[in-house]
Amino acid sequence: ERPVETLENALQETRAERNAVHDGKSVVHWFKSDLRVTDNKGLYAASVWSREHAVPLICVYLVSPQDFEAHLTAPVRVDFILRNLQVLKHDLAKLNIPLYVETIEKRRNVPSRLMELCNDWSAKHVFCNIEYEIDEVRREAALVRACLSRGISFNPVEDRCVVAPGKLISSSGGPMSVYSPWHRKWCDYLNRHFKELDPFPAPDMNAADVWDRFEALFRCEIPPAPASKSLSENERAKFRVMWPAGEHEARERLDKFIQERAREYHSARNIPSANATSILSPHLAAGTLAARTVVREARDAAPNKKLMDDRKQGHSMWIGELAFRDFYTSILCYWPYICMNKPFKPEYSNIEWEYDLSQFEKWTDGRTGLPIVDAAMRQLTYTGYMHNRCRMLAASFLAKDLLIDWRMGERWFMEHLVDGDFASNNGGWGFAASCGADPQPYFRIFNPLLQSEKFDPQGDYIRKWVPELADIRDEKGIHDPYGRGYGKVAEANGYPKPMVNHHQCRERALQRYKAGLGRS
Ligand code: FAD
Repeated sequence: ERPVETLENALQETRAERNAVHDGKSVVHWFKSDLRVTDNKGLYAASVWSREHAVPLICVYLVSPQDFEAHLTAPVRVDFILRNLQVLKHDLAKLNIPLYVETIEKRRNVPSRLMELCNDWSAKHVFCNIEYEIDEVRREAALVRACLSRGISFNPVEDRCVVAPGKLISSSGGPMSVYSPWHRKWCDYLNRHFKELDPFPAPDMNAADVWDRFEALFRCEIPPAPASKSLSENERAKFRVMWPAGEHEARERLDKFIQERAREYHSARNIPSANATSILSPHLAAGTLAARTVVREARDAAPNKKLMDDRKQGHSMWIGELAFRDFYTSILCYWPYICMNKPFKPEYSNIEWEYDLSQFEKWTDGRTGLPIVDAAMRQLTYTGYMHNRCRMLAASFLAKDLLIDWRMGERWFMEHLVDGDFASNNGGWGFAASCGADPQPYFRIFNPLLQSEKFDPQGDYIRKWVPELADIRDEKGIHDPYGRGYGKVAEANGYPKPMVNHHQCRERALQRYKAGLGRS
């Protein structure tokens, strides 16, 4: 049984018992990856309980350094999460709702600590939004029953996806693993269930006396990042400016994107220097913005106010990209073994990978000698972000040209991305390394030079991130300095020659995939 089904069963079987639990003297919302006040289903459910039973709402966030380690959370992302917590605490306090934040050294102690806190606050009902990573779903499934045995009703609700995993099934009744037909169903479902995109109102104000009763909770500090994830003072200052935190910031970014850039998204989204995408991924990953809010707003701004599979229209295309997030989450729920370093299709386990660390280091350092790949890798290290087209290119180069185990690249991305999200990252790597849901190993081998010329035609992106080549004004030369007469400039500035020849790599990759799949 998949963990998500175990959780669904536990919730169904215990519904009557949970409903029968005594009201308690407070109700708790447990924040995880949903760091926002508005359009938050779990928080809303807790606030309805609070209003109907006239008990205060208390919010809690448990910082777990071991969770950060286990999820390979990048220091830039940890910093972003902690800054978001600061804003959230402030926003909740304006509603007289305390946000209690505590560090729990051992992640296995999170459930018992949550129960102790409920005990301290005489809370009998806990709400939260579901997270779909395998350990989290298992923990939540166990918590449903463990809480009940202590007389506490634990209520995880779905709020990560726009369409919850499990709602879209194939004509034969099973889960779907190919994006295009899944996306058509996704649009169709939302057009029929229009109301599911409606916003959940922010919680009501707690009574004023909660300040006296829970003063310590209001006054608690947001802890600093654990030592293993901390940044230098300079980096923190840089990221504060680069990635402003909080749901207001997220909302502003969303509104601006929809007003100014969504219409042209379909034509410009692949050009990394064009600033044509929303760069909302850090907010969607931290939950400072609900995917539901984003899709609703984009739909309402779209010319026909409908969700469609139309790749020639900006809003539609953008909503289609957002749908990928739901798609990869659904893959994670139905095929949870992808969390265990396994490829989506078992037969892809037989591909023989390389583990050359000096080559891997050239890739991570942005010194492969392929300017577009190097630009992408340097953007990642400096900002914690990389443009989607460049993610595909950099990933394809590692997995196909170097034949290095794609899981090393997947890990590197998670350890550096401000928007690191297991399902999307794994899905992206599965796509680029042809080990994912819809693999296409014999067709999907990106040629870095052709891609570079097509998507960075003036070389602006390369010039920005690879200063050694910034003086090359020739639009052809910048993509391949050693091959097109600019070797001396590149060499003088310390830029390396290409570490491999793409055409030879392509042949090697095709043979390697064929041999691996032939062994299955
Ligand atoms: P926009 O183009 O404005 O899209 C809007 C939102 O839709 C994004 O913020 C994101 O939430 C979602 N989205 C768009 N494309 C995808 C996609 N292909 N898969 C899933 N969601 C998508 N995205 C992450 O959020 N976290 C990751 O860890 C991550 N790792 C990736 C690794 C690889 C190898 C690849 C190829 C893609 C990865 N992506 C990941 C997807 C995508 O690159 C980013 O979501 C996107 O670049 C974020 O920029 P944006 O917000 O401007 O996107």
